[in-house]
Amino acid sequence: MISQTFVLNQSSQCVGSSTLTTLDSWADTHQINLSSIIDFALHHTATKDASDFDPESAKTTLTSDDVKKLTRDALRTNLPQLSDEIETSFETVEIKTDIQTSRLTPPYFQPGEDDGPIICVNFDGSARSVIDLVHEYGHAAHHYACGHANISPIFREVFAFLAELMLLEHLCSLEHSDLQLLEQTMLFDDEGYLGDDLTLLADSVRDRQSSYEYRWNYPIARYMAGWIFKYYDRDSIYSLFQHDGSLTDLLNIDEILRAACSGNTLPELPDLPKDSAQSAYAYLGAMTMLDMEYLEGPSELPITDYYELLSAHLRDQSTFLLLDGRSKPAAYAAWRTAPDGVVTLTRQSAPFGDHLSLLKTLKSHFGDTRIISEHARASRKEQRPW
Ligand SMILES: [Zn+2]
Repeated sequence: MISQTFVLNQSSQCVGSSTLTTLDSWADTHQINLSSIIDFALHHTATKDASDFDPESAKTTLTSDDVKKLTRDALRTNLPQLSDEIETSFETVEIKTDIQTSRLTPPYFQPGEDDGPIICVNFDGSARSVIDLVHEYGHAAHHYACGHANISPIFREVFAFLAELMLLEHLCSLEHSDLQLLEQTMLFDDEGYLGDDLTLLADSVRDRQSSYEYRWNYPIARYMAGWIFKYYDRDSIYSLFQHDGSLTDLLNIDEILRAACSGNTLPELPDLPKDSAQSAYAYLGAMTMLDMEYLEGPSELPITDYYELLSAHLRDQSTFLLLDGRSKPAAYAAWRTAPDGVVTLTRQSAPFGDHLSLLKTLKSHFGDTRIISEHARASRKEQRPW
């Protein structure tokens, strides 16, 4: 997934006038305080799930033309101001599928000079190759949106990851049959970026002598893309996409990493008798507080609708509250079950970054049951709070 535009060799990367060869030059370029990395790794390193899901053997129904159309539509829906640039990038870039790619030789986007831009990806319809292609289209679209500016690597990867998130949201709005497979693939990738890649980065920070590795960029970029997609409105994302200067002026990585580590600010839940009225109130209150951590979504519903929604879930026992090690509410999920037994997750609220733990717990709870998740975006029209 490396954009090889500026790659000089395996261990150095040219950014502007400086060359990234050391940890310090990498941290300076992105204005990161190295102690923030250690804190971030302590809070966010993921362990690999034992499931045998393999994105390379999971086949989707999609052709590369389908992926092209879906990704283009997803980007244009989110960034209508950049429709022309997105259109140009999709029409200009040539896809080369005859190069074998792997974890060691990942797919890449190369803007090219005389030959024109290319994306090299080994597309075979697998969930792996779909996400790879979307990722590289994200690099291509960003390259045109920012006027071919030389963007430093963490930020470059943020935009490719944002394209993946936009595609997923678009497939969700279409109720696309491949949505679940691609969601699973992104979860699988999260475990790599926030697992092995984050461990490598934290070890390099502790070592201080390691030479630059491109993989250092992924954990932070992955986390930031999720953060931006959740908290930024589309006009702000547009401003970032088309920005041709140093993105450290607009995005303070340290601030985002510090917020990621500030942890759960909610109070601990008291130990209450099971099935008592008090425990139902505590459960209801915990879900409400988790939803209040988001500015959009359920926290915008009129209070009577919101209360009815949650109390119906409590009655049906179709909700699960995840507590952290100190009994603080960390995340919750709610779902509905169709007559054929398929479970649709209608809400996943994990404002403190416990998304992976929530999904793992749900997976072990539901076993082999087919689970679909729904990400209904909030209605933006104004509503009366009560
Ligand atoms: Zn990339």
